[in-house]
Amino acid sequence: MRRTKIVATLGPASGTPAVIGEMLDAGMDVARLGLAHGTPEEHRAAMAMVRDEARRRGRIVGVLADLPGPKVRTGPFPEGGSFLAEGAEVVLVAGEGPSSGERIEVDEPEVAQVVEPGATVVLGDGTVVLEVVAVEGDTVRARVQAGGRLQGRPGAHLPSDRWRPPVPTEDDLRLIDAVAREADWVAVSFVRRPEELRRVREALGDDGPRLMAKIETRAAVEHLDELMTVADGIMVARGDLGIDAPIEDVPHLQKRIIRACAARGLPVVTATQMLESMVSAARPTRAEATDVANAVADGTDALMLSAETAIGRDPALAVRTMARIAERAEQAEEMHAVPVDRGVVSRRVPSTGAVTLAMAHAALRAADELGLAAIVCCTRAGTTARAMAALRPRARLVGASPSPATARQLTLSWGVEPLEVAEYHTTDEMVWCVVEAAVEAGVVHHGEAIAVLAGAPDAAARTTDVLRVVQVE
Ligand code: PGA
Ligand code: MN
Repeated sequence: MRRTKIVATLGPASGTPAVIGEMLDAGMDVARLGLAHGTPEEHRAAMAMVRDEARRRGRIVGVLADLPGPKVRTGPFPEGGSFLAEGAEVVLVAGEGPSSGERIEVDEPEVAQVVEPGATVVLGDGTVVLEVVAVEGDTVRARVQAGGRLQGRPGAHLPSDRWRPPVPTEDDLRLIDAVAREADWVAVSFVRRPEELRRVREALGDDGPRLMAKIETRAAVEHLDELMTVADGIMVARGDLGIDAPIEDVPHLQKRIIRACAARGLPVVTATQMLESMVSAARPTRAEATDVANAVADGTDALMLSAETAIGRDPALAVRTMARIAERAEQAEEMHAVPVDRGVVSRRVPSTGAVTLAMAHAALRAADELGLAAIVCCTRAGTTARAMAALRPRARLVGASPSPATARQLTLSWGVEPLEVAEYHTTDEMVWCVVEAAVEAGVVHHGEAIAVLAGAPDAAARTTDVLRVVQVE
């Protein structure tokens, strides 16, 4: 039984119920909608397909809507593209008019203000790398460090130290209304500061989807602690992070970010190029397989597939391959390297965070000492289940909730098997109701002893204050 979750990005290769169904059967736990591509209508349709196919299978599956954030593009290159040769000089100016191999327009009005000599500008996801030589008024002169052909309107990556575009963008806000609010999680691209996350949370409204901060700039790494006080989850967005930060820093930043999330009990997703060669190949490279296994060993909650499932040759095969590598890594003794200091700080109920954490530790100890088969968390907002997941129990972990939205949000948390249960009013009713539901779902079996961990439904404060050991008759 695999504990690490799999997030798979939908796209042209995975836009039909049949393929989505195959991906679910292969182990997809969360479907990601990349809102930078396609239309809101297409994403709404994809979300409906995921939920339909999940329902048909009796599965609970999450949907993660990923907001595009600020994306700078160049003006259009001529038909057939332009080749920029290494060593050549080009000028960059603000604008959206046609670009060429000598003069490139960039749709950031402040481009000349946000770069300085020595800065690196990356075009087309790394196709061309420019080094800024001089800034003369509104004109940036740059030298081509790595050449290549640019076509259409490639993206331009400006270094994050001085470039501070507004997040969320107008487009992000429009997409929140058009589609993202219906998702279970919303990811915020290029977020740097906690107030930017708060603006997104405000736009989403109370009881909206949970909020994921994508760490993809050096600025976000610097503000990681503050971002973690607002975010419900974190993504190690290695794609853009590997452009904004030196590539050799990426492996270490991944470990640092995952460790910080572990200490706070925040779910964390490791993303980008995990099985990249499976975009066109039937098998991953050894390096990719090792990368997936290492992310599991680092303690990630979830692993993400991007192009592999969005435009790849066989999305379900990519999911199945990732699932196999992850499951194997979880079982292997040698992968259990670093026991992390796992604590829980709950933002939503800060005053009860310590009680919840202590109760989760108690459940963990009971499960270990008594050899319990499962820990069943009854959770309205998900806090109890996330606190338990953060402690990485060996026993099966069930996140039972009367709220379908909470159950779907828990699909991202390590090891949590989400379960929808009927509404309960008293502690006795709750225990009876979840045990019955867990047996019916086949996650708990007759004759097993389990722990039930919950916040009493009649307690005044929303806190985890009930731990019962139950012999399932
Ligand atoms: P993206 O984000 O795929 O939306 O760019 C992830 C990353 O940058 O790694
Ligand atoms: Mn990115």
